[in-house]
Amino acid sequence: MLTTAKHCLNCHTQLHGRTDKKFCNDYCRNTHHNTLNSDGNSCMRNINHCLRKNRRILENLLQNGRLITRYSRESLQNKGFSFRYFTHQQTNRKGNPVYFCYDYGYRLLDKDQVAIVREY
Ligand SMILES: [Zn+2]
Repeated sequence: MLTTAKHCLNCHTQLHGRTDKKFCNDYCRNTHHNTLNSDGNSCMRNINHCLRKNRRILENLLQNGRLITRYSRESLQNKGFSFRYFTHQQTNRKGNPVYFCYDYGYRLLDKDQVAIVREY
């Protein structure tokens, strides 16, 4: 019979018995899966954090109106805005994409400037 030494995916102890075993016991199985899940959750947490921060920045900028026709990308970035994350994208009447972080969004005017809008 062919046997290969297998090791627990959690604690790396050598496993005996059934060849399809991946963990020594339930504790190791649960710990391993919880670790995987918590990595996923922290990834989601980071992205959610970025989205909320983006929204807050846009909200603060639009406190006195519905629209800012021109704002520099650099100033947004200096406030901590991340252009990497947005919740959804819409196309305006002129056919240009508007990127939203929840109800606030921006449209690229050129490579340095954006227009900031609020969705109603
Ligand atoms: Zn183990």
